[in-house]
Amino acid sequence: MKILVCISHVPDTTSKINFSEDSTKFDSNGVQFVINPYDEFALTRAMWFKEKQGATVTVATVGNSNVEPTLRKALAIGADDAIRIDIEPTDGFLVARQLAQVVKEEGFDLVLTGKESIDYNGGMVPGMMAELLGFNFVNACIGLEVEDNKATVIREIDGGKEVLTCALPMIAAGQKGMVEEKDLRIPNMRGIMMARKKPLKVVAPTDAGESTSTAKYEKPLAKGACKMVDANNIDELIKLLHDEAKVI
Ligand SMILES: Cc1cc2nc3c(=O)[nH]c(=O)nc-3n(C[C@H](O)[C@H](O)[C@H](O)COP(=O)(O)OP(=O)(O)OC[C@H]3O[C@@H](n4cnc5c(N)ncnc54)[C@H](O)[C@@H]3O)c2cc1C
Repeated sequence: MKILVCISHVPDTTSKINFSEDSTKFDSNGVQFVINPYDEFALTRAMWFKEKQGATVTVATVGNSNVEPTLRKALAIGADDAIRIDIEPTDGFLVARQLAQVVKEEGFDLVLTGKESIDYNGGMVPGMMAELLGFNFVNACIGLEVEDNKATVIREIDGGKEVLTCALPMIAAGQKGMVEEKDLRIPNMRGIMMARKKPLKVVAPTDAGESTSTAKYEKPLAKGACKMVDANNIDELIKLLHDEAKVI
């Protein structure tokens, strides 16, 4: 089984986010980047398929050369090879088209993604890829098994779980629960050394051009100061919740 894991290169959640060029561009100065956490769950599940079922695991990112440390980290975790599609990922449909082209050219049976990227939270790339490729698609997976070209997928639904079956080729978008958090892997020294020698192919983009462009970014309002209310002063608490917080 040939698996592709799509890796989004996202700011660490502790980063301070700023904008430049009159709040039309994200300012990456001083920002630490990591593998999108949902993609890490998908990658860890792919490693399980590699170790238990002999799958091969390729990772791919749409981005310019600054995403390469993120791809190398995925290689250090255990992916066999990496592909970087050399274009700035400024639009979800653009990203989906690039990844779909790689799938068409390289031929994968199973494509794993995260359910969303934690930077722009579009939640659109895997669904659009599935449409472009004519693949089956299951979103927000918390479990995935593959036997005889057929996947059994578990999804979390309101108040319970849904178990689905689906023929390959397919795209499964993972989230927390696809593997246990304790199973996520921190690359060890041997993995980091081996990752340096693993193939990282850079491919030219296809069919470039955005469908949307960002007019402006705005930061959320700064949080107000915390107000302490005496535990016995219920009237004051209700007044503040009603008049100031406007939640009752
Ligand atoms: C430098 C930079 C500049 C950007 N500028 C803009 C901008 O001006 N306007 C704007 O709207 N957006 C901008 N983006 C965000 C860009 O549009 C998103 O990365 C892209 O659209 C996908 O985001 P999403 O939230 O839709 O992904 P989602 O659909 O939420 O992601 C789901 C999954 O798809 C896969 N995936 C997503 N992105 C990638 C990727 N790049 N490579 C491989 N797999 C991926 C991952 O598995 C991810 O878990 C920028 C991003 C970067 C890094």
